[in-house]
Amino acid sequence: MASAPIRDPQIECLPRAEIEQLQLERLQATVNRAYRNVAFYQKRFEDLSLTPEDFQRIDDLARLPLTGKDDLRAGYPYGMFAVPLREVVRVHLSSGTTGNPSVVGYTANDVRHLADLVARNLAAAGVTKDDVVQIFFGYGIFTAGFGFHYGTEALGASVIPFSHGDTRRQVQVMRDFRTTVIIGTAHYALSIVAAAEEMGVDPHALSLRVGLFGGEPWEESVRETIQQRLMIEAYDVYGLAELGGPGVSFECERHDGLHVSEDQFYVEVVDPATGERLGPGEQGELVFTTLNKEAFPLLRYRSGDLSSLNPEPCACGRTHARMGRVSRHADDRVVVRGVSIFPRQVEAALGSIEGLSPRFQMVVDRTTLLERLEIHVQLAPGMIPDQMRRLVEMEARVREKLQELLGLSVDIKLGAYGSIAEETPRIRIIAGEGQ
Ligand SMILES: [Zn+2]
Repeated sequence: MASAPIRDPQIECLPRAEIEQLQLERLQATVNRAYRNVAFYQKRFEDLSLTPEDFQRIDDLARLPLTGKDDLRAGYPYGMFAVPLREVVRVHLSSGTTGNPSVVGYTANDVRHLADLVARNLAAAGVTKDDVVQIFFGYGIFTAGFGFHYGTEALGASVIPFSHGDTRRQVQVMRDFRTTVIIGTAHYALSIVAAAEEMGVDPHALSLRVGLFGGEPWEESVRETIQQRLMIEAYDVYGLAELGGPGVSFECERHDGLHVSEDQFYVEVVDPATGERLGPGEQGELVFTTLNKEAFPLLRYRSGDLSSLNPEPCACGRTHARMGRVSRHADDRVVVRGVSIFPRQVEAALGSIEGLSPRFQMVVDRTTLLERLEIHVQLAPGMIPDQMRRLVEMEARVREKLQELLGLSVDIKLGAYGSIAEETPRIRIIAGEGQ
């Protein structure tokens, strides 16, 4: 495997003792900023009779309780900002599943630091100025699209800001523009695979060589599929909207864990139930403290993601600790009739069945007295049973086309020729009761 140049060797290869010294200095500045400017943290410090001067060692951080998603929601929209709005140049949202989402603000420095961080991440995957990078993360209120866009520009590669959707045209652009790097969710990459196959585009005819995938947990089996079908090397990347977006951690060419950007984030692993700090190699919830954020500093923020940490230096030369791949969200489970169901369990079960796509959905129907769980699964590309093949393909193509056009999901019912009479009106409205 070719070794990619390290973009910030003076930071990424810093000896551990120096990393810890840098972290302590930045932690003290962050604690100060949070205490002086964020009412939530000021109250928390005062309740515990703590002042910023009490943080003399990095371990003093453990004296603070964890910050949770609910704390951020309570400050909606701008309550957690540590600078006045006039210093904020950008605002993003984190995707909250319940209640208010969290609002994340950036100063001009925050935006620049994010771009640098993402450029570091891209370089670790071997991306250079010579690459053509197609981003299929959405560009909008969520952070991933813009985060990778700014990072790609900071690195000096050419960026195609395609955003999400219109899968067939993505493939067309990929082929015509000779895209070499793709960035998005792994599951969307599978849609790209399916679209390319449907269009008869041979991966050999594409120029792709690298893919960076994140935004949601994905499995090794998905990595293998993507690597084989698109003939690329796939890298896992990790970010969190509340921490500013992508670049929080990323794989190097060794693919042996994700290097946490320890100059920007102090990371801990805690028992999700008790909050107790866990040691190297122990699986628990990732907790992050920002070390360089001006607008949105967070102290001991619960990510909701489960992983473990390896502080040993990596064979690539980087010294930043590596986290294992995020296996699932600590709070990402559903209870059906008293039974906890983790999507990972379902994914593992589906992964063992040949011919199925790893993508699925669990639908819980709570409208009836006895809850219902429905799991939607799909066949792998090219696994359509022959007798139904044409109909199913046609329906899928029509549905995809209309959904891309209208931007909302539609069901397609496909009948034989003549099932729609000539005089049939183009529009029919079925009114509900009382209308
Ligand atoms: Zn490494």
